[in-house]
Amino acid sequence: MALHVQSALHGTGMTSVLHSRFSNTSPVAPIFRARSCPTSVAAFLKRPCFHSPSVNLLYNSTLPSMWCCIASYDIAQGRLQRPRVITSGVVKFDEMALPPLVASTVIPDLPPPPAQASFSVLCAAKDHMKNIAERWSVHSFESWTHPGISFTNEVFGSTSSRDRFVAIATLQTFYFMLDDIFSDAPNESVLEEFGISRSIGKCSQKLAAFFKRLNSIFRQQEIPSNPTPIEGITWELGHDMRRLSNPEWFNKFADCLLEHQIAGVSSHVDHIADDQQFLKEVEAYAQMRVLNSGGRWVMMLVEFATNVYLGDEFSAHPILHQLTNAAVIHCVYVNDLFSYPKEMFEENPRNIIKMFMQDSNDGGSGLSQAAWKAVDLINTQIHTVAELEKKFDSEVFAVRSYIDGVKGVMTGNIYFHSVDNRYRHPNSVFPELRENITNAHETNV
Ligand SMILES: [Mg+2]
Repeated sequence: MALHVQSALHGTGMTSVLHSRFSNTSPVAPIFRARSCPTSVAAFLKRPCFHSPSVNLLYNSTLPSMWCCIASYDIAQGRLQRPRVITSGVVKFDEMALPPLVASTVIPDLPPPPAQASFSVLCAAKDHMKNIAERWSVHSFESWTHPGISFTNEVFGSTSSRDRFVAIATLQTFYFMLDDIFSDAPNESVLEEFGISRSIGKCSQKLAAFFKRLNSIFRQQEIPSNPTPIEGITWELGHDMRRLSNPEWFNKFADCLLEHQIAGVSSHVDHIADDQQFLKEVEAYAQMRVLNSGGRWVMMLVEFATNVYLGDEFSAHPILHQLTNAAVIHCVYVNDLFSYPKEMFEENPRNIIKMFMQDSNDGGSGLSQAAWKAVDLINTQIHTVAELEKKFDSEVFAVRSYIDGVKGVMTGNIYFHSVDNRYRHPNSVFPELRENITNAHETNV
């Protein structure tokens, strides 16, 4: 079987296929391991050399020990189906009617994922954040290291600069931490560890003032006197990113970070006040999520990662603006899909699936209908980005570099969500998110 798979793929252009073999570590076999779009894998598996009734497609991410079952291919019926349920869980609905998360979103029109970082670059990022945790005595910081590095690896792993990768991974880690301690999973002892007053999160004006102060520290050249840990880390982040970019881009980037944080405060205040106008209409919801997700500054990091900057002429171009917007909406809906189980437990209403399920206009959708509607919206954005790219039709190197990078973020973001334990839970409604993946960063690095 292993030889058949390898010879069938030989010369097909699937250069990222790693290997195939019977697995002795998983109850599903034979295993076919590939980093590829499952539909293109399926095309190859139609060849007559495959005699097994089904083949499980596993996606390799970040490091060789992290595998994720993305789909199962039924050879007799010639179609992709849901991953086999490996673990048991509480089933309150027809889980077979739910979309297979990766197979339904990694569609043929989605661009290929960017390359991943080398092991030594991943180690450098891990060491950098360990040093930050020690220098500022914030040991809990390391608990956000994994999603920060994993996300950066999936979306910006191809950056040629170790320093840029480390700076992006540290910033992503910092924002996963901020999201959790102020919004998703408030924790007073962590606030104290970072030198943040416990009362800040309970008052929107204080929270907005706090983020404005952090933003000015991010921009300043001199380290503040007697900084708290949160201020010190913020200053170091700004210092490293300014050193590696240019003043025009850096100032725009700092503006974008502040816009995200203030939008986060507003949507949180709306949630607390139960005044959630944005949950009543898809367009308003999308624009709220574009701002409060941080997706806009993530797209700006495409320029930082490549060290190729759009400049004023192109960064303000209306078509590029629309393209970026569609790409960010793609990313936030992917997040909503994969983080639905997490947000269900956290009672967070800001999720497109929850919104569809509560929509009074169509009587509300069941979970599977709502999840499929989200998948449709996700895949619509891919076509919007492709159309806008065609419409812009620029040969300018900086524009090409930016659009390719943005498309890489869209694909990498799906893979990040499919492999990171952040979105996994033993009672997840999605079977493929019930099992934790061995965390290679924690065990090997
Ligand atoms: Mg979410």
